[in-house]
Amino acid sequence: MTRLRTVRVPTMPIERREEMTEWSRIDEVNRHAETMLHGRTLWNVNSTAVGGGVAELLTAALAQSGATGMDERWAVIEGNQDFFTLTKRLHHRLHGSAGDGGPLGPEEQEVYEQVTRDNARELVAQIKHGDVVVLHDPQTAGMASLVARAGAHVIWRAHIGADVENEHVRDAWGFLLPYLVDVEAFVFSRWSYVPPQLTDRDVTVIQPAIDIFVEKNVAMDDVDVAAVLVTSGIATGETDGAPVFVHQDWSIDVVSRTAAIEQDEPLPLEDPIVLQVSRWDPLKDMTGVLQGFADHVAPVIPGVRLVLAGPDPSSVSDDPEGAAVFAAVQAARMALDPDIRRRIHLVSLPATDRSESAAMVNALQRHATIIVQKSLAEGFGLTVSEGMWKARALVASGVGGIQDQIDDGVSGILLPDPTDLAAYGAALVDLLQDPDRLRKLGAAAHERVRTQFLTSRLLRQEFAVVERLLTGALEPR
Ligand code: UDP
Repeated sequence: MTRLRTVRVPTMPIERREEMTEWSRIDEVNRHAETMLHGRTLWNVNSTAVGGGVAELLTAALAQSGATGMDERWAVIEGNQDFFTLTKRLHHRLHGSAGDGGPLGPEEQEVYEQVTRDNARELVAQIKHGDVVVLHDPQTAGMASLVARAGAHVIWRAHIGADVENEHVRDAWGFLLPYLVDVEAFVFSRWSYVPPQLTDRDVTVIQPAIDIFVEKNVAMDDVDVAAVLVTSGIATGETDGAPVFVHQDWSIDVVSRTAAIEQDEPLPLEDPIVLQVSRWDPLKDMTGVLQGFADHVAPVIPGVRLVLAGPDPSSVSDDPEGAAVFAAVQAARMALDPDIRRRIHLVSLPATDRSESAAMVNALQRHATIIVQKSLAEGFGLTVSEGMWKARALVASGVGGIQDQIDDGVSGILLPDPTDLAAYGAALVDLLQDPDRLRKLGAAAHERVRTQFLTSRLLRQEFAVVERLLTGALEPR
């Protein structure tokens, strides 16, 4: 007698299939760009190789472009403490806040010009006539003229801005605009960030996007997520897996470092967590995230925990405020009732290995029940798309570029007033009590990022600007 046997073959997970589609799109865009550049080098210049969204975007771009033979490079400027204090001041002012309240006068100009001139000279020694140089953010604007005079095409890319212009924003532009006269094309993340003085120049708006192949975003299954969290010391519990993660070149590695954690008790893997991952910057309002959780969420929902994760505060050289903000968050935590405090965990991610630290962020985001980004201002907010890609429910401020990413009530929740801690707490409580809504928001979030916020779209738009510039299709100024 014959018997029919059913053969089961495991199917490729959906996230892997989506990765393959995105990979071929990126490859196509990069191949076109390589032909278009025709031997020219595409330079990117910013102020840090690690920490923050710009470093994230550049890591992604370089990892992909090299694969097609394109000569794309990334240079990081050097500066002293006075310079970074000043550029942080500019950063705050462009976001519409006073920052440290310090001046932007002739002394500051001198500090700024000296550092940017020194860096520009070094860059000029390395570039070829006709190369394309993308200068990122206020830290590099002062290099534009020297680089342009050396025969390069200069694009200035601003990743930050304010929705509404105020005196602080005008102050910052008053300082920066004189340095930007020789820039050929400008790129901003939102139209509202473009100052009136630049509206007759060549301006393109390109929203940032995430790279799903970097260690931060690449697919990681639940077993590996748990293993990464336990090995790094972030959580405790039983895991069957190994703490493996995939590098950008698709090689496999394991997490071996640990994060520094400030906590009263370990974080059990099975407890629901609310997570914010940010630099220790006042505009990310980590203290507000903590206080709102302590006052309005922890007393209502037993068992839920808050994890605030950021870079080791001593490690980010272009962010002099990090240590002070971290200290303020520590103090706010220590002032809490011990029963609430034990449910709040401060995680400092190791600065000694960028990839492992990114794998920890990946695992944390995938493990989170809800991801928060309660920024007071936000240029774009890559952490939002990162969380959405991982099909998490987001509760985030309706400010800056976050509004472009989340369709309120459909692919996440937008907070109309990020300083309203009661409303923030209520949004978390509602969602924590509604697992079905959490799942639906997460699924819609993933879909939104898949269709609108992946690198292939970003690269296509960026290379279109370069192409216009190289084919001379830009309007003469
Ligand atoms: N990030 C990180 N480790 C940290 C804090 C942030 O890797 O400890 C990453 C985060 O995942 C995101 C980027 O840094 O990719 C922050 O970009 P975003 O646009 O959200 O904010 P920015 O720091 O540029 O203001």
